[in-house]
Amino acid sequence: MPLIVQKFGGTSVGTVERIKNVAKRVKRAVDNGNKVVVVSSAMSGETDRLINLTKEVSKKPASREYDVVVSTGEQVAIGLLAIALKDLGVDAVSLTGWQVPIFTDNVHTKARIKKIGIRRINKELEKGRVVIVAGFQGITENRNITTLGRGGSDTTAVALATALNANFCEIYTDVKGVYTADPRIVPNAKKIPVISYEEMMEMASLGSKVMQIRSVEFAAKYGVKIHVRSTFSEEEGTWIQEENEEMEKVVVRGISHDLKESRITVVNVPDKPGIAAKLFSALGNANIVVDMIVQNVSHKGHTDISFTVNKTDADEAEEIAKKVAKEIGATGVERNDKIAKVSVVGLGMKTHSGTAGKMFNVLAREGINIYAISTSEIKISCIIDEDKAERAVKALHEEFIENGKLIVEK
Ligand code: ASP
Ligand code: MG
Repeated sequence: MPLIVQKFGGTSVGTVERIKNVAKRVKRAVDNGNKVVVVSSAMSGETDRLINLTKEVSKKPASREYDVVVSTGEQVAIGLLAIALKDLGVDAVSLTGWQVPIFTDNVHTKARIKKIGIRRINKELEKGRVVIVAGFQGITENRNITTLGRGGSDTTAVALATALNANFCEIYTDVKGVYTADPRIVPNAKKIPVISYEEMMEMASLGSKVMQIRSVEFAAKYGVKIHVRSTFSEEEGTWIQEENEEMEKVVVRGISHDLKESRITVVNVPDKPGIAAKLFSALGNANIVVDMIVQNVSHKGHTDISFTVNKTDADEAEEIAKKVAKEIGATGVERNDKIAKVSVVGLGMKTHSGTAGKMFNVLAREGINIYAISTSEIKISCIIDEDKAERAVKALHEEFIENGKLIVEK
């Protein structure tokens, strides 16, 4: 008997009506002869509400207790879903993270799954039950409740699919799959039928927020096949799986954009050894992840160093940069929050050259200035002005996706 894991996101279980609909969908999978393990998020808005409660009580809520509070949303959802299934005549049982058990490390608010006990789940499945597991939560060896970071239910689902050796993992959400660009910006964006783990990881980390990036890393590591699809439609969604030769024929799979970074520039830095080391060690010591770095040409022994960080780290990064600037004798520090990162992603870049040149040409044609560039084997990202992001995404989509002659190898 095939075993599938079905994960439902917050909007999918956002109201009582929707929970009943999800139950119908689960029943269909059961009627089709599958063993089914369901993972649910909290009802939409609930996790935000719980987080706000902790913030109302304290500016710096203790992370252990934060997890105790924000993990509760999922418990409500799984109980309601089990009730709905029983009403349809399907035997079901809900399990919290600690009932499964799902063990994590003790990094509260963003714990990582370490070990999953599958005896209880298997016992319930053997009894012919649907097992409904609370996403986003786990327990440490010392029996403290943990959460897996925002969007963590995806990771619960993929980890369970791995542990149970499921045939595949379905991620039910409010979009029909992964798109070639954000459909709100590019009306012509197309649903991508199949995407490789590697491309999906780039898309996820570059701002396409369909799945938690950690869950995709997990799936890639263990080869779990994922099907991202809509709860509100019967259409096939996007399959995320191992790459194959066919996939490499597509040079650019998608265009993504991210408005979550800030750029910080240290101006007039003496151009001598050890300066970059000083600046970036200080940032590293503060656990700040630096994304892009640009050092411009030195003139008369001085240079500018720019870097980008997540907006949530920008205040701290600016402070550190100012301190280091003083120490090394730089003139000052500038900060720009109104930037965007636009990226083109595709496996085919490994074997096809010229994508970077084409990308820069498109941006030049649109009169868009590039402040920083970074590349990997399968992506090119540019930092540009925030107010030009939409234009850039549209133009890049037109060039690389809509203009078919660039995609398919002749
Ligand atoms: N409920 C959690 C959140 O909103 C986990 C999830 O939805 O995946 O982040
Ligand atoms: Mg989500």
